[in-house]
Amino acid sequence: METMFNVLVEHFKDMENTSKRTELTSILAQLFNSISVDEIDKVVYLTQGKLYPDYMGIELGVAEKTIVKAISKYSGITEGKIMDEYRKTGDLGDAVGNIVKGKRQMSFFSERLTVNRVYSTLDRIARSSGKGSQEIKLSYLLSLLNDAEPDEARYIVKMVLGTLRLGVADYTVLDALAFARSGTKNSREILERAYNLSGDLGLVAATLMKEGEDAVKRIGITIGRPVRPMLAERVPDIKGALEYMENGCTAEYKYDGERVQIHKRGKNVMLFSRRLENITMHYPDIVKISLKSIEVDEAIVEGEAVAVDQNTGEFFPFQELMHRRRKYGIKEAMDLYPVTLFLFDVMLVDGEQLIDLPLTERRKILWKSVKSDEKVQFATHIETKEADKLEVFMDQAITDGCEGLMLKDNSSTYRAGARGFSWIKLKRDYQGELGDTLDLVVVGAFYGRGRRAGAYGTLLTAVYDPDNDLFYTVSKVGAGLTDQDLASFPKLLDPYRIPHRHARVSSNLEADAWFEPVIVIEVQAQEITLSPVHTAAFNSVKVGAGLALRFPRFTGKVRNDKGPEDATTVKELIEMYGNQKKKPMISGTGP
Ligand code: AMP
Repeated sequence: METMFNVLVEHFKDMENTSKRTELTSILAQLFNSISVDEIDKVVYLTQGKLYPDYMGIELGVAEKTIVKAISKYSGITEGKIMDEYRKTGDLGDAVGNIVKGKRQMSFFSERLTVNRVYSTLDRIARSSGKGSQEIKLSYLLSLLNDAEPDEARYIVKMVLGTLRLGVADYTVLDALAFARSGTKNSREILERAYNLSGDLGLVAATLMKEGEDAVKRIGITIGRPVRPMLAERVPDIKGALEYMENGCTAEYKYDGERVQIHKRGKNVMLFSRRLENITMHYPDIVKISLKSIEVDEAIVEGEAVAVDQNTGEFFPFQELMHRRRKYGIKEAMDLYPVTLFLFDVMLVDGEQLIDLPLTERRKILWKSVKSDEKVQFATHIETKEADKLEVFMDQAITDGCEGLMLKDNSSTYRAGARGFSWIKLKRDYQGELGDTLDLVVVGAFYGRGRRAGAYGTLLTAVYDPDNDLFYTVSKVGAGLTDQDLASFPKLLDPYRIPHRHARVSSNLEADAWFEPVIVIEVQAQEITLSPVHTAAFNSVKVGAGLALRFPRFTGKVRNDKGPEDATTVKELIEMYGNQKKKPMISGTGP
C-alpha cells in the first residue's frame, strides 16, 4: 500500500520540534514502521533532504526565482509579497507555510499526495537539465504544489531548496533502522559495516527491511559506490604512538591536501571526497592521470591530492587547494592549482576486495597496479620502529611542506569508516601550544560589539561524541577571526541557522544564534582546562566540570572536507587533556 505524503510530514514536524536525540531516533523508527518496505530507501533519502546518496551528485537545481514563481501561482499571492515574507522568515518553505496557512482551498480535482509521487516528481525535477529546464522544473513543482496542503507545500519547498534540516545524521538513521526492525539495537553493527562499505544508507535500509540481516551482511565494496574512509587517532608523541604499532610500523608523510578515493573501471573514473561526495568534476586532471597511471582494469585506490606551486615546485597549503572546489571556472583553477597525487592505499583490484589484507600486502598490490610518475606518486614512507629515525623523518616531512607523519601498523586491515590506533597522525609541536589543532563544529554564535557589531563576533564550538551522537560545547572562539572571516561567516552559517538549540547539541550557554551542527573549523589553543560552563567531557575528568580551551584561536581553515561527525571527539579531547599534563609546555621539537 502506498503511504500518503502527509504521514511523512507529520513525522517531520515532530522531528523539528524535539530537542532530544533519543526522541528523534524513536520518531524516525516509528516513521520507518509506518511505511511500506518498498518506500524505505526513498524515505531515508527524503528525511535527510536528498533524493539519492551524496555520491551520486544529483541535485534538484531549481533556481530560487522559479520557486518564488511556483509559490505565487500556487497561492495566488504576488511574488513581491512572497519575497517580503521570505525576508522575515529567512526560509522560503516557512514563508509558504505562513502565507497559505488556512487560506488554501483544495480543488475538487486535487488528489492527495503520496510519498512515491512526491519522490518521483522531485526526481524528474532533478533530471531535467539544460536549456528551458527551469520551465519544466516549474511545471513539475506546480503539479505537486497544486495538490499539496499548506504543511506539505512547506516541506516540498524546503526539499526543493535544499533547506530541509531535520538534523537526522547517518548514525541516527542506523539506530532507528535497527530499532524499527527488531525493537533493539542488536543489528546496529552489521548495519554500520554495510554502510561503511557502500556509503548508501538507502541501500542498507532497503536490504534490511526487504531481505533481512543476512543480506545486509553480504553488502560489499563496488566500483562507483564510495567506501567510508579509515580514520586516524592522534597521539602527541612518537614514543606513545609506537606503543600501538605492535606488528611493525610504516611512517608516511602526512600531506596537507584533500583526500581522494579514485574508482576506475575501464575508461571511466570517478572521484570521491572524504565525505563521500562525487568530486569528479572538480578534478579533471586527476581523472586524466588516473587513466594513464592505473594499469589494471578495475581499481579503487586512495590518496591525497596536493596543489603544487608551478613556479617553486612547493606544496600550496590546503586553503589554496580548496579553490578547486568550485562550480565554474574549473579549467582556470586547474591551471592555477595543478595537483599531484600521493597514493597510500588500495581497496579493490579487478573485482577482488582487498580491505581485509594487511597494509603491507595491500601496498604491494597498489605498487603493482599503478605506474608512478611526476603527477602520481606513492606516499613517501619508511618502515621503522626506531623513534630517532622517525624524528628525523618527521623533520624531513615538515621541511617538504607536509603536516607531519601518519604511522600505520603494518599488519592492519583497512577498517572502513573507523577511527582507530592502527593509523596514528602525528603533527608538529608548536611552542607553548597544544601539539595538535582541533576540528570543532560551530553550533552557535554571539553577536559582536564595537568593530564587530552586526557580525557573528564569537563562535560557539563543540566536540563530537560518537557514542551518543551528540555535540558538546568546548569553547567560544573569537580570536583569529579576520575582517574577511567576519564578513564571510554569516554567508557560511546562515543557511544552517535554526530558531533554537539543535537536538544534537548539549550546551549550558544561551547563544544569540543557533546553527545546525554542520560547519567544521580548525582551532588552535594553548591549553585544555577544566570548565564549569562547557559540557564537553562533563564529569569525566572532574565531577561538576567539563573541559574547555584556553586562548583558542581560529586558524583560518574552514574544514569543508570534514563533516560534523569527523570533528575532534570527546574522547580525543580527554586524551589531549591527559597528555598535556605529562608534557612540559615548551616542547623540544618546536620551531
Ligand atoms: P586529519 O584530517 O587531521 O584527521 O588527518 C587525517 C587525514 O590526513 C586523512 O583523512 C587524509 O586526508 C590525510 N593524509 C595525508 N597523508 C596521508 C597518508 N599518508 N595516509 C593517510 N591519510 C593521509
